[in-house]
Amino acid sequence: MDRISKKTGRSFHPETLALGLGYDPDRSEGAVKPPVFLTSTFQFKSSGDGKEFFQAAYGIKDLPKGKSMGLIYSRLNNPNLEILEERIAAWDHTDKAAAFASGMAAISTTMFSLLRPDDVVISVRPVYGGTHYLLENILPDMGIDAKFVMAGDGAASEMKKIAKSLEEEAGRPKVKVLYIESPANPNNIMTDIQAVVDVAKELSTEDREVLVVVDNTFLGPVFQRPSDNGAHVVIYSATKFIGGHSDLVAGLVSGRGDIMEQVCLYRTIMGTMADPFTAWMMTRSLETVSVRMRRQAKNATVLAGILDSHPKVKQVFYPTLFPAGSRQEEIYKHQCTGPGSLIAFEVEGGEDAAFAVLDSFEIMRLAVSLGGTESLVEHPMRMTHSDIPPEELEEYGVSEGMIRMSVGIEHINDLKRDLLQALDVLS
Ligand SMILES: *Cc1c(COP(=O)(O)O)cnc(C)c1O
Repeated sequence: MDRISKKTGRSFHPETLALGLGYDPDRSEGAVKPPVFLTSTFQFKSSGDGKEFFQAAYGIKDLPKGKSMGLIYSRLNNPNLEILEERIAAWDHTDKAAAFASGMAAISTTMFSLLRPDDVVISVRPVYGGTHYLLENILPDMGIDAKFVMAGDGAASEMKKIAKSLEEEAGRPKVKVLYIESPANPNNIMTDIQAVVDVAKELSTEDREVLVVVDNTFLGPVFQRPSDNGAHVVIYSATKFIGGHSDLVAGLVSGRGDIMEQVCLYRTIMGTMADPFTAWMMTRSLETVSVRMRRQAKNATVLAGILDSHPKVKQVFYPTLFPAGSRQEEIYKHQCTGPGSLIAFEVEGGEDAAFAVLDSFEIMRLAVSLGGTESLVEHPMRMTHSDIPPEELEEYGVSEGMIRMSVGIEHINDLKRDLLQALDVLS
């Protein structure tokens, strides 16, 4: 199966490609589903093949015309990773994807491959805690500086301002990567990807391209496609929605071919690839990601509405509740096709009240992480975001009474009842 139908000439949808792209049953005894290729190494048909595959893998010499690349060793390539990668790239409208051992393996390998000493990366904040640590503590040790701008309406113009002033100071361009995580966690604030891409274009020179990297974990691949807005690299913690069952840890990166070549070289040398079985699990999960995410978003929209009108709830952060006519609503409508299933809300009564509610759920489980089939609740200030200074949390709207909810695929009536009975402890 290719991205385009041989019969009709029409492009297949990613939901369809997720069931067939990149796998030929004839090569696996007719098995309808790809087997797990649990092998570390691959047998060459001839020494000549081995020589040519290595030359191609190491960039020494292109393969002879008409010859396709063969498998070598599972740190470089493996059928389970390749099938998954083709399907993710199709979903993201990118040239190529790569599977990693975790979201952080994907993010750090990408950063190491794109940045060099003296480069600067400008990132929105808040970003995922591990990403923040990498940018704030690890990259500076390597001579790579990170600057942060508040996620949201003003992020792109703020990035431009900082990049221009750094350039003026140094007398040469400094910024190499603009990093976005949108929507932000837990407040669902959105950053305009297109606007950041426009800034990157403006900052790029003939011999120095400024790249936009988007962490698409919360809404992708179903509700947000950053490459359609011009982003160069798209990253996932596949631990979340793509894996979708809270039973694996993995990451994915997809993007333009030449950039991905560099990312894959770093993955090979750093050894940060996913293992074949985890890649197989993700391939299986990818078949249902659209169904799951749409059901989760449908459930979440209902729960957000209930929360919004509940007397004990002070504030709800969810895309369908962005004020009509606001810039946030405009960004949401421009770059997203659905609201996702992460809700943050603030109850009256601070930490004690929030803890009482959290301890009262029957169905929703008290756990961090998100994106799985089961509903999860947690307390950002004392759990996922506990390492962030209080003043900064306040800027993000994270208060003592805030609860974050990752809505699952359970029956909506049970979820509604569970939410209402848990909130009852406040009355
Ligand atoms: C979880 C998460 C990560 C890190 O992914 P791991 O798979 O835990 O390494 C990165 N970015 C976002 C937005 C996340 O939610």
